[in-house]
Amino acid sequence: METTRRCRECGVVITGHSRREFCRYCKRIVLKQNAQQKKDSSKRTVGSVDTCRVCGIEYTVRSGNQRYCSECAAQVARQRSYMQAQKVSEQREKRRKEREQRINGDRISAIS
Ligand SMILES: [Zn+2]
Ligand SMILES: [Zn+2]
Repeated sequence: METTRRCRECGVVITGHSRREFCRYCKRIVLKQNAQQKKDSSKRTVGSVDTCRVCGIEYTVRSGNQRYCSECAAQVARQRSYMQAQKVSEQREKRRKEREQRINGDRISAIS
């Protein structure tokens, strides 16, 4: 059965019937991270202490795939939504410019 799978790292849709948990791009990163984690040999259990991958401070693990301290997690989430918001406003700006150009073009053709 074919189900839509999403990359656990970036959320991109993985097509085809594969049982992969990550897209091709993230898989490489995840594999590297896993190797690093094995080196760290810290078993990640909820309630244990791990190091934030962004700032390096220690935080209490609240979920198995938590990678950042609560501060950095919030920042990463903010950055993601900021990037999304920026994309939306870019599109809006583009449409606005197109509209302006149309209006100006109308005005010019009305004068001539
Ligand atoms: Zn991915
Ligand atoms: Zn952090």
